[in-house]
Amino acid sequence: MSINPDLVTVGIDMGGTKIAAAPFVNGQLLIDEIIKEPTPQNNAQAILDLMSSMVKKISEKHQVKAVGISTAGVVSNEGQMIGGCGNIKGWKGTKVKKELEAMLKLPVAVENDANCAAYAEYMVGAAKDFDPVLLVIVGTGIGGGIVFNNKIWRGAHFAGGEIGHIKIVDKRTRRCTCGAWDCWEAYASGNGLQNTAHLFYADPTMDNYKLMDLYHKGDETASQVLNTWHEYLALGMASVINTIDPEAVVLSGGMAKFINYPELNKKVRARVVDALKEYVNIIEGTLGNDSGMVGAACLANVELQTRATV
Ligand SMILES: [Zn+2]
Repeated sequence: MSINPDLVTVGIDMGGTKIAAAPFVNGQLLIDEIIKEPTPQNNAQAILDLMSSMVKKISEKHQVKAVGISTAGVVSNEGQMIGGCGNIKGWKGTKVKKELEAMLKLPVAVENDANCAAYAEYMVGAAKDFDPVLLVIVGTGIGGGIVFNNKIWRGAHFAGGEIGHIKIVDKRTRRCTCGAWDCWEAYASGNGLQNTAHLFYADPTMDNYKLMDLYHKGDETASQVLNTWHEYLALGMASVINTIDPEAVVLSGGMAKFINYPELNKKVRARVVDALKEYVNIIEGTLGNDSGMVGAACLANVELQTRATV
């Protein structure tokens, strides 16, 4: 694909500790020039100012046509932060789209980070040949996003895809970060794996890296813990697959590399309804940590096209 310099979009990944920005053409990183800056704390205006200066810096070299922002938290259709924003204090309530469009005089798209990651894998990543697609982010918690027919499933209140909080048991055994008991996240996330490991080992310093090290050395208990974790992953995943029948499920996040994909596919296949058994297709994402930024850049393209056709 030839590079059209008129279609450069900037993808911005907004995290609790750093903000990353880079130029893209059709979802492909234009050249390897990602800019990273520490996230200003407790000050939404300082965050907006920093994003604006990062875009202006990229604009010195490229003809930027639109900007996309990937951020934690619930984002309204108007690009306003309306829900909890993880560890980004002072961000809630900010009219990100409106403010940045006024500062930059460019179209701006703003979307939740899990939705951005899902859109990125759907457009240019592991799931580019599949539709609909479910993304499951397995990190310290579990997040998700659903993309179908080039659109993100946002729900009536912009919080669709919060699959980490489906219940997999009702025994009040584990408390979730959301405050409820027995969410899928409490068992199948990175924290869930570590909590399971603590049930098997007396060592209070046991963490997932120690566990994986033991597993690779052939430790039988570690193998049991990993098998239990895969069972938990399969329990929630089968429920979501039964609900939305995705053509592919893409896994990303820090824990995705610890997953045994043939084993997980087998366990999920055993649990889904008969009509879906032969179609279970769980794959690892290809975009890694860049997926939020890539998705934001792709959504900036959509914003540009939408305006061109209005
Ligand atoms: Zn929960």
